[in-house]
Amino acid sequence: MIYADNAATTKMSRAAIEAMKECMEEDYGNPSSLHSVGQRAQEKLSEAREKIASLLGCLPAEIIFTSGGSEADNQALRSAAALGAKKGKKHLVSTAFEHHAVLHTLKKLESEGYEVTLVPVGEDGLVSPAEVERAIRPDTCLVSVMYANNEIGTIQPIPEIAALCKRKGVLFHTDAVQAAGHIPVSLENVDMLSLSAHKFHGPKGIGLLYARRGLRPDPLIEGGAPARGKRAGTENLPAIMGMAAALEESVLHMKENAEKMSAVRDRVIAGLSRIPHGILNGDAKKRLPGCVSFCFEGIEGESLLLMLDDYGICASSGSACTSGSLDPSHVLLAIGRPHEIAHGSLRLTFSEETTLEDADEVVTKVKEVVEKLRGMSPVWRELQEGKRQYFLR
Ligand SMILES: *Cc1c(COP(=O)(O)O)cnc(C)c1O
Repeated sequence: MIYADNAATTKMSRAAIEAMKECMEEDYGNPSSLHSVGQRAQEKLSEAREKIASLLGCLPAEIIFTSGGSEADNQALRSAAALGAKKGKKHLVSTAFEHHAVLHTLKKLESEGYEVTLVPVGEDGLVSPAEVERAIRPDTCLVSVMYANNEIGTIQPIPEIAALCKRKGVLFHTDAVQAAGHIPVSLENVDMLSLSAHKFHGPKGIGLLYARRGLRPDPLIEGGAPARGKRAGTENLPAIMGMAAALEESVLHMKENAEKMSAVRDRVIAGLSRIPHGILNGDAKKRLPGCVSFCFEGIEGESLLLMLDDYGICASSGSACTSGSLDPSHVLLAIGRPHEIAHGSLRLTFSEETTLEDADEVVTKVKEVVEKLRGMSPVWRELQEGKRQYFLR
């Protein structure tokens, strides 16, 4: 079996599992307890916080542990909106191809009286800083642009966008869930940043919101002692330990892993580009090391996935959230793919464990499955008989 769905989630690393195991067996105390067992847990928590902070290049106090990327996104948007409302600023800027954790929160905020501008995305899967600048108004309280897209893997010009927001005096948040642990992530001029452990070989259900010193994001979860606006509830210490171990390992091996994964990625892109009437989604170079996304004309992404699974390849049609619904991906529509093409999407996301042999096998099997499915497709027959026009050359 070849696992090529690392953007949906990754396999936990040995180091993360060991860190969690040790914590569960030995540091079972509640960090808020005053006795020695609790204080030991509190020490472990502080150590993990310090380690993560030094890996990210921020202060320990700037980290809020959350239940994952979705919660961090929700908290960032809601806090900025609440802060904006106090100053009469009720406009938020984001992009058309954000993760649903951002887009659905923005929808909610709209229904609560906020205004939202979604900046369009280029056909290359890149957001233009000039477009973001144009969308900013005097009443804008937040700009939120993802670091790297989770469906097509394109890396956004975050340093430029963060700098222009700073210049304009607008808060800037970035969903860095796909980027953290995979590519260098800069916090320069960034006010808030979300990440999630299970996207870099850590456990599921844990993530964090970085919030620049001075910002005090409103907690989404209330309860317990009202300490410094911190998230209520007993900290998930084993998961936090697992996240710290996974992040350390990912950051330490980032360069070599990225080189390995880019080689696999580029080999798969080269191989799949030879399939007629198909197209790579997003810029070929400005993309995550392990991410390949294609659309193939005349097939259904769902059937492609199921058949690939039979062939021993775990892939995705786009985001895990869109998979399983028949709506085409909002990301592919945002980069201008017509519905007919967006339905035939395939996302392959590799890890440092994927080999070049795996890459060749993936290419061979995808080719075979695409041919097979086209052979059974009435749409494909009409295209071939000239009764329909091809979208893709
Ligand atoms: C996975 C993902 C999320 C959600 O993270 P969870 O920890 O699963 O809640 C948010 N944004 C992006 C870009 C993602 O890829």
